[in-house]
Amino acid sequence: MNEKLTFFRYLITQYVRNQTDECPYCGSSHTKTIANRRLIIQLKKCSNCGLMFRYPKETIDFNANYYQEEYDEGITTQMPDIQTLENWKKTCFKGSPRDFSTQVSIVKAVVPSGNLLDFGASWGYASYQFMLSGYNVLGYELSKPRARYAKENLQVSITTSMSELLKHESFFDVVFTSHVLEHCPNFKDILDAFYKVLKPSGKLVILVPNCSNNTQITTVGFGMHHIFAFNREFFQNNLPNHGFSNLFFASSPYSSEFWEKLKEMRSFGSVDGDELLVIASKS
Ligand SMILES: [Zn+2]
Repeated sequence: MNEKLTFFRYLITQYVRNQTDECPYCGSSHTKTIANRRLIIQLKKCSNCGLMFRYPKETIDFNANYYQEEYDEGITTQMPDIQTLENWKKTCFKGSPRDFSTQVSIVKAVVPSGNLLDFGASWGYASYQFMLSGYNVLGYELSKPRARYAKENLQVSITTSMSELLKHESFFDVVFTSHVLEHCPNFKDILDAFYKVLKPSGKLVILVPNCSNNTQITTVGFGMHHIFAFNREFFQNNLPNHGFSNLFFASSPYSSEFWEKLKEMRSFGSVDGDELLVIASKS
């Protein structure tokens, strides 16, 4: 089925069921609408934890089914044909639309080697580039067809099972997740899972769309795919509750000043670029 139609039917069902507007993260009923789109979807903000979330909220069941096949976000989700993939592999994805060399450099600066979890690995492009950079990589991906593609065509070790992933207790030196958490209705459980699978002092590296101002909130903060609008304040206030400390924040573009600050893990005063980078240590 067309994904817009699937989504529209989902919204109607939720309105008919009169879904509550309690915060999906902390459960508080102190939430208020701060923006809306075509009057049918709204962005609400929780005054307790600061989370900005789309209403109607997304259920875990809808999300799990939808992301198997219907979810479409261009080259992030469309698996390239084998010839295109072979060309990209020849150049280690350099210059391709899925060139992750900047992201690999960021992780290298923090954790130069070891076991890496690529959480939300899609069809394996980032996992593959981390493998070539010397990491022992495990990918996690909800979508079985994309995970199969990664395994068969890029030889990426990948699981589609959360319970399988959780068997890797205190195993990873670094958890990397890029533009994934804003799609995950259960991201609270996911943060707890990250804590569990990281080694003591292991690093969590999160990239999400940055929603630090009204323009960012209304353009990328909420819609069919993005169900949470994250900003620095949210992670600053809530990551410590999941056992993380030594928080570092930055945003794109990644200037020479950024690389200097990253070396010393000195956060920027203001973080207002379009991509938010969060690095934290397991306490
Ligand atoms: Zn809340």
